Amino acid sequence: MQNRATTMIQSGSGAAVAADVYPELGLLIDGRWLKGDGRDTRSVTSPATGDALGQLPIATGADVDAAIAAAYRAFGDWRCRTALERGRILQRIAQAIRADVRRLATIITLEQGKTLTEAQAEVEGTADSFEWMAEEGRRAYGRVVPSRHPGMEQLVVLEPVGPVAALSPWNYPAILTGRKIASALAAGCTVVAKSAEETPGIIVALAGLCAAAGLPAGVLNLVFGVPADISTRLIDDPRIGKISFTGSVPVGRQLAARAGAALKRITLELGGHSAVIVDADADIERAASLAVTAKFRNAGQTCHCPTRFYVQRTVFASFADQFVARARALRVGDGFDPATQMGPVLAARRIAALRDLVDDARGRGSEIACGGTTLQEAEGRGGGGSYWMPTVILSTAPECRALTEEPFGPLAMIQPFDTLDDAIAQANGTRFGLAAYAFTRSQATAQRLQTDLAAGSVSINSFAMAAPEMPFGGIRDSGLGSEMGNEGLLSHFHVKAVSRAFS
Ligand code: NAD
Repeated sequence: MQNRATTMIQSGSGAAVAADVYPELGLLIDGRWLKGDGRDTRSVTSPATGDALGQLPIATGADVDAAIAAAYRAFGDWRCRTALERGRILQRIAQAIRADVRRLATIITLEQGKTLTEAQAEVEGTADSFEWMAEEGRRAYGRVVPSRHPGMEQLVVLEPVGPVAALSPWNYPAILTGRKIASALAAGCTVVAKSAEETPGIIVALAGLCAAAGLPAGVLNLVFGVPADISTRLIDDPRIGKISFTGSVPVGRQLAARAGAALKRITLELGGHSAVIVDADADIERAASLAVTAKFRNAGQTCHCPTRFYVQRTVFASFADQFVARARALRVGDGFDPATQMGPVLAARRIAALRDLVDDARGRGSEIACGGTTLQEAEGRGGGGSYWMPTVILSTAPECRALTEEPFGPLAMIQPFDTLDDAIAQANGTRFGLAAYAFTRSQATAQRLQTDLAAGSVSINSFAMAAPEMPFGGIRDSGLGSEMGNEGLLSHFHVKAVSRAFS
């Protein structure tokens, strides 16, 4: 795709950032980029400044139907390619992404706001996903099952489910859409992707790299528009074989109901409200330092980031003091400023949601140890950009909404506990079940927490999570099924039982 004419965006740090890397936005259908052409458009803006970055064409119903038709037609050929050949194309895509990290990361920082360092890590992670699936796609084995009848052969064969509808949010726009595409393509499926309308530029750029790496027309199609209209069309169309959605619990529930009515396979990666248990024997300084990094990465807009901290009472003050001091010291600002440690949240609506939770906690007598305001309020100045300060609530009143509603932003709560039983009960006390963490030096405590914490992923003495070779998914309201890992690949296959008699 042609880049847009050069424009300079004035970043919040005062630096002028070249926006000429921001791609011209379009829909990709059957290998053709479709622009305005009379379609409605919506503006894409920078969270750091509020400046417009581009105009996104809104897909019509006919566009979505054309994307489905293209994915269905291309599936006939793509499913018959060898896994080796598909893997080679995926490898080339991974290499193209790695060769273009700086440009791709700049696009993410422009439209999503995270720091350039975080954006680069996301782009590398996206390349890792393609690379890993390129390999794993060659290891989707069937089975030969001994028959109970002489002269009979029984095979269990894996067949790709068909075109996949991939719906994903804005918080990690490259990796969340990228891993859906990589997994589907590795399995022999084709894709109609609808990424978030707030952050379309990165997926437009990735799709350009996929085509240049030799991905045939129609194998990957992109649409943007009115999310509910598009998802309804995709789910109801009999040519779509699987739905893969990452986003909030309420939307996931709606899509699951619709997919259920259509008897269609669905993978759901939904919201989280992750707990951390810090036992008295843990390395408190290390735990506090790692926790602040994990909490405020991507301005807290990470589905599995830690939010509720339960700390053994004897070390509560030490942990809380260190956590609050580190949170206060974080430098909030424009993601392009090398001094920035935390960028803006996505938009004003995220600020309104965070303020609501803080006001509720304050009104119920909780202590707001730091934050609870915008950057502009904290500095007593005006200016654009949706910046929310790192916020820590101590000894949160039990009925506070923030304890059960996902803040999805830079907000942490720290509570003391007396017994491990009590900590586990509180950690498991929401309907979410995405991720949980624990810090302890005791093998026995680690073993117990690994077993008793109700979450799809548990990490002990670390916040490491979601490596491409590991399955990632939630339980309870946090989702259905897994992405990545061998499990994520296998969710793209039907199982066919074949019996053959030798006459
Ligand atoms: P959201 O559910 O409102 O939106 C997510 C995506 O779904 C967006 O692309 C949006 O355009 C689209 N969408 C919205 N309504 C839709 C509809 N009716 N049909 C189809 N698509 C629709 O969520 P959000 O608040 O924008 O995103 C953040 C949420 O995503 C948080 O809850 C977060 O925890 C979750 N999330 C989960 C994971 C995971 O892997 N489990 C990863 C990232 C984000």
